[in-house]
Amino acid sequence: MAKKIIIAGGGHGGITCGAILAKNGYDVTIYEKNKADKMGHDWTDIFDPKAFGAVGMDMPPRDMYNFKHNMTFFGPSLTTRLVQDVPEDELEIQMERKDIYKCLISYAEKCGAKFEYGCEIEGPVMLGNRVVGIKTDKGEFLGDLVIDACGINSPLRSNLPKHLGIQNEAIEYERFYVYRAFYEKNDVGEIEDRFRVLMFYKGKLGISWVADDGDYTDVLIGRFNKIDMDEVEATLKDLRVEFPDLGEKKLRGGQFVEIPVRQPLGVLVADGYAAIGDSAFMTVPIIGSGIANSMKASAILAKTIMDDTTESYSAKTLWRYQREFYSKLGSGLAPLASIKLLLTRLAPEDLDYIFATGILNADDMTISADSTSLFAMVKDMIDPEPLKAKIKGLAGRPDILKKVLRMIKDIGAVTAVTAAMPKSYDVVAVHKWAKLYNACFKH
Ligand SMILES: Cc1cc2nc3c(=O)[nH]c(=O)nc-3n(C[C@H](O)[C@H](O)[C@H](O)COP(=O)(O)OP(=O)(O)OC[C@H]3O[C@@H](n4cnc5c(N)ncnc54)[C@H](O)[C@@H]3O)c2cc1C
Repeated sequence: MAKKIIIAGGGHGGITCGAILAKNGYDVTIYEKNKADKMGHDWTDIFDPKAFGAVGMDMPPRDMYNFKHNMTFFGPSLTTRLVQDVPEDELEIQMERKDIYKCLISYAEKCGAKFEYGCEIEGPVMLGNRVVGIKTDKGEFLGDLVIDACGINSPLRSNLPKHLGIQNEAIEYERFYVYRAFYEKNDVGEIEDRFRVLMFYKGKLGISWVADDGDYTDVLIGRFNKIDMDEVEATLKDLRVEFPDLGEKKLRGGQFVEIPVRQPLGVLVADGYAAIGDSAFMTVPIIGSGIANSMKASAILAKTIMDDTTESYSAKTLWRYQREFYSKLGSGLAPLASIKLLLTRLAPEDLDYIFATGILNADDMTISADSTSLFAMVKDMIDPEPLKAKIKGLAGRPDILKKVLRMIKDIGAVTAVTAAMPKSYDVVAVHKWAKLYNACFKH
């Protein structure tokens, strides 16, 4: 009989993993709290199109996506301006979230995966140390493996017993609180910078953007602390003074949401359980992109499951997913969390100094355009030559230098710890390793 795979939550990686498994004869059901017509948010996303190929999908129809614009980064005082210059053949694509979902769901259905919409998951069903199913508002469902694709606030991960060694929650500075909406665009003639990214705007610890998106202006206001509508309205008022193309009338969106901006989950698997996507914190910690990573991870997870000839789907057999994810993606993502932590320790005037003196320059911002280049940036950070030049620029500011040196030390530690991940799953060794890994990311 076909092995029963429960995909908990219709996250991107969960759906594509389910598609690959269903195509290969597994009995896959995706349990999702939303109704089918409510899947996906009312906004556009930017991501690496290679993710489609990684899970065996064709590229979406050409009229469903555009190529992303280069971004212009402004320091807190708005006096410095760093413009990306990404080569055309390396540009990521921008696509409506609802269209991404349409493509993923129709592919998964064609592959034979079933969807159970309107089903709210409340937690795992445990049998001893093994996850054997999900508790939902429609009752319990049991399976041979539960894939947790419920996102940042997964009730499965949150309710796993502590002794499994899987961190239950993302903590402060690991969650980015975001407001996203699209506004009317005022006609102000030709705009020099179409995608304006504002670092620590008005001295607030966070990143905002105001992007000319053709018919409207795309606004994102993001902070490391929760924000409400009063804060949003006050920020919008300031932004309209700075960027007169940003109109008054809201045309779409307007959600408050959270993005994980932290290192990937230390332990991704338990007996009968594997986490993927935002449930496993697979976003790029600095830029918050997680769609491509979760889809790429899903191909690794599906292969691990199909190669498990014991069909036990235990932590031991699923460990290969953990190892391969870290080798291909996680070990590049984790050091970026150290860079993010540096940002949370800098004062706005520190960042202005870093921008104004060219310690961070347009080339660095071009590198930050996508996660692949960001991995290269981390290599540069521990490569003595480019590093020496950057450190020299900080000679006049020992206070910033100290923070930067701490980050470099942290990156070295993260790189060493991820390289020392146990080769096979032994509960004591894995828990010891996870403790060391988690300790690398103290604020
Ligand atoms: C404002 C914003 C902008 C972003 N922009 C980008 C971008 O441009 N590019 C990019 O790559 N990434 C972007 N991201 C990040 C991206 O959304 C995620 O990294 C990506 O969606 C992977 O997450 P996921 O699919 O695993 O989880 P999610 O997108 O959170 O999906 C989880 C799914 O599980 C369902 N679910 C949750 N809880 C339950 C429950 N209890 N019971 C049943 N179902 C449940 C949800 O309804 C949802 O369908 C952005 C995020 C935000 C918030």
